[in-house]
This record gives sequence, C-alpha cells and structure tokens, in this order.
Amino acid sequence: MSAVNAAERMADFDLTEEQRLIRQAVREFAEKEIAPHVERYEREARYPLDLIAKLVPLGYIAPMIPEQYGGSFTDVGAYGVICEELARVDWVVASVVSVTNSLVGGSILRHGTEAQKERWLPLMASGDCLTSACLTEPGGGTDLGNMQTSAVKVDGGYRLTGTKVFISHAAHAGLFFVVATLDRAKKHKGVTAFLVDPATEGITIGDFPMRTLKRDNLAEVHFEDAFVPDEGLIGTDGGGFPVLGSALDMGRYSVAARCVGQSQACIDLAVKYAMEREAFGQKIGDFQMIQAKIADMICRTESARALVYRLGRMKDAGVARASMESSMAKLTASEAATQNALDSIQIHGGYGLTEEYTVGRLLLEAKSLEFGEGTSELHRKLIAEFALGIRKQ
Ligand SMILES: Cc1cc2nc3c(=O)[nH]c(=O)nc-3n(C[C@H](O)[C@H](O)[C@H](O)COP(=O)(O)OP(=O)(O)OC[C@H]3O[C@@H](n4cnc5c(N)ncnc54)[C@H](O)[C@@H]3O)c2cc1C
Repeated sequence: MSAVNAAERMADFDLTEEQRLIRQAVREFAEKEIAPHVERYEREARYPLDLIAKLVPLGYIAPMIPEQYGGSFTDVGAYGVICEELARVDWVVASVVSVTNSLVGGSILRHGTEAQKERWLPLMASGDCLTSACLTEPGGGTDLGNMQTSAVKVDGGYRLTGTKVFISHAAHAGLFFVVATLDRAKKHKGVTAFLVDPATEGITIGDFPMRTLKRDNLAEVHFEDAFVPDEGLIGTDGGGFPVLGSALDMGRYSVAARCVGQSQACIDLAVKYAMEREAFGQKIGDFQMIQAKIADMICRTESARALVYRLGRMKDAGVARASMESSMAKLTASEAATQNALDSIQIHGGYGLTEEYTVGRLLLEAKSLEFGEGTSELHRKLIAEFALGIRKQ
C-alpha cells in the first residue's frame, strides 16, 4: 500500500514550474540537512546557528531581498513555498527566514532609506546578521497601540526605555527592529519604529524560559536609556504603525505558510504511522475512524494552503496590503496546524507523546503560531470588522 498525497498534487496545481522546482529543492535540502538535527538541538536547547548557515549559499535565507542587495528574490509565491518547506522540518530555521524577510528586511525595503538598505540588507542576505523583531511587551502583545516602551528625542537620536518579551533569536541577532512610543497619550500615532544595534549600551538580553522551542532561546530584551542615532529611525516620528502594519501583513503570510508546512508534517507522520502500526490484526490505517482523521487533516491543510497561495499571488500581482486575506490565511493555517498536531498525536496513540516520535513536539510549536503575528481572536476580530465595514485597511 502506498500513500496518495492529494495535498501535494493540489498544491502543485497552483505553482509555477519554477516554484515547483524550488519546493522540491527546499524539501530535499531540509530533509537532508536540517531534519536529522532538530530533536537533538531541542533537547540540548541549542540554537541552530550552523543549520541557519546552510541556508545562505542556496539563497534560502533571503528570498524576499532583491539581488541588488545580495538576496535571491524571485517572487512572493516562492518565498511562501520556502517558508512552508522549511517549517515542515523546523520551526526555528523557518522563523529566521520569516523574521529576516517579512518583518525586518521587508520593513527596511518598504520604509527604509537607501543608506539603511545598503547597510543592512547585504549583511542579512549573507547570513552575517540575524535579526529580531521586538514588538511584544510584558503588559500585552495584542494591543500594540498601548505600547509602554518609550522613545525620547535627544540630540542626534533617541533614547529607548522599556522591556520586550518573547523575542525570538535575540541573543544571536545583529539587528533589532524595535517599536516604541514617542507619546503614550497619542496611542498608535505615537508609535515609532527603529533599527537598533543589540550591542548598544543600555540593552540587556535575558532568558525568557518557555515550555517549548528551547532551541530558539527566546529572550526578554531590556532597554535602559539606550541611545539610537537618527539613522536608526525607520519611517517617521510617530509613523511606526504603518511600518508595523505592512511588516505584519507580510509576516502573517510567511507565518501562515509555515503553519501549512507544520500541518503537512503532521499528515506525513500520521500517514506513515497509520500504515505501519497494527491493532486487531490489521493496519490502523484500515480503520475508518483513523481514515476520517487523515481526511480531515488533509482538507484543513489544503484549505489553508489555498488561502496562503492566493495571498502570495495577490502580493505578486502588486496588491500592497491584503490585510483581510492575511488574517484569513494566518487564522486558518495556524488553527489547522494545531488541530493536525492533535489528530496526528491521536493516531500515534501514547507513542505520540514519547520522545521517540516527533509529533508530540509539534503540538506546542504549532500552538505558538496561534499567537505570533496576531492571535486567533485578533484575526477573527479583524476579519469580521472588514466584513462589517468597520475597518478599511
Ligand atoms: C513562540 C513564540 C515566539 C514569539 N516571538 C516573538 C517575537 O519574536 N517578537 C515579538 O515581539 N513577539 C513574539 N511573540 C509574542 C506574540 O506575538 C504574543 O504572544 C502575541 O502578540 C499575543 O500577546 P500576549 O501573549 O501578550 O497576549 P495578550 O495580548 O495579553 O492576549 C491574551 C489573550 O487575550 C486575547 N485578546 C486580546 N485582545 C483581545 C481583543 N480585543 N478581543 C478578543 N480577545 C483579545 C488574545 O487573543 C489572547 O487570547 C512570540 C510568542 C511565542 C509564543
């Protein structure tokens, strides 16, 4: 009996020949070079710097950075496929690509000065500068308009004070994308975006222990009167929200693509196990209740994949902001990833929670994607507000 991968056939239907080749190449690379190490790195809480370095010669680290700045941009669809295939084997490596290209690199490309582009993008594309996005604060990540980290204008720059939490890659980053407020009373109109050197005096990086993703070394970042020169301002004073908005718009696309990859991983593991494991003298894959779970996993993954690919095509067609579609893709894909992890664990029986099998690890990793770049509640709210005409962009 061999598994028929309907998901793969349907996805290929929507991809160009070049995107199909990219997907095949990334899949082979990820399975060979990354997958064998992930479990061990998680056990050792080891940040995968050496695995990230392997992305560089193949151009997978900078698929949204144009060639003139050292990147390997082809199109947004290909970027999604790269995120999807990397996430199918590793959350952290995929996250590096997503943060580099959507949040930080994307913000520099869309809102940075030419000097900022020339300074940072080639370093990011060469893998010499990893990045972090410092958005979330201890008081809450959803209500970004209520930001507490302050920026005070001083001679030649700004001084930042405050704390950011849950920051991925921070201890390894050469550049922080930070949002702070020039005036709390102005709410989102006070929010301002900065490019910050993590080695700046007044910045300290502390542990932020998580029950999952030990290998990502999540951190809290403290700013104590940290000086950022004027050249670090990205956008304008009080103009951080549009910068943030377009960063998250693209960020939600790449996170959604990553969730599709995670959903697919859960299917692949479940199908393999269902064809091996026996109960009552037959393969468990012959039981209809197991088959129903696999069918549901495939349907929700394909629904999510279709939303993600459509969003990629919209962006390739020049739609600058597709906020409602980004929310739809991110919400659908992240919930699919969590539910698929649950179903795949169920198919594995108790073994799904042992260290011998990968699938148990995937559950909390998938769940984390329901928070990053907007929670499910936020996205439901945004989608409904667009539908009701309460929100236009
Ligand atoms: C693994 C991981 C990696 C992360 N990496 C980063 C990173 O690199 N950089 C970064 O800045 N952040 C990062 N985050 C943080 C993430 O973005 C936040 O967790 C997220 O924005 C939610 O913020 P919060 O956790 O403070 O929840 P809160 O904002 O406190 O929300 C708590 C609950 O209330 C709900 N809620 C809030 N407002 C509303 C509303 N108006 N209507 C209905 N429900 C609402 C939320 O949906 C949620 O269920 C990461 C998180 C995780 C788990």
